[in-house]
Amino acid sequence: MVLAGRPHARPGPLRPVVHAAVQLLTTGALDRIKRCGGCRFLFSDESKNRSRRWCSMDDCGTAEKSRRYVAVRRARTTR
Ligand SMILES: [Zn+2]
Repeated sequence: MVLAGRPHARPGPLRPVVHAAVQLLTTGALDRIKRCGGCRFLFSDESKNRSRRWCSMDDCGTAEKSRRYVAVRRARTTR
């Protein structure tokens, strides 16, 4: 059994964006449109359990996580 990917898919920097846009238009997944918790951008949550909260995990995700971590730590120490 061969689990081949998509041999004809063209890799490129624009592909994910185009893919997301096309999916939005074709599937009408408007209930998956969310606002990023970091930068207030809108994004399409394509995760299986719709738990995504940031437009980009690398940017806003890490920023938000570290911010929360600091806040939690501060709350602990000031008590
Ligand atoms: Zn963001």
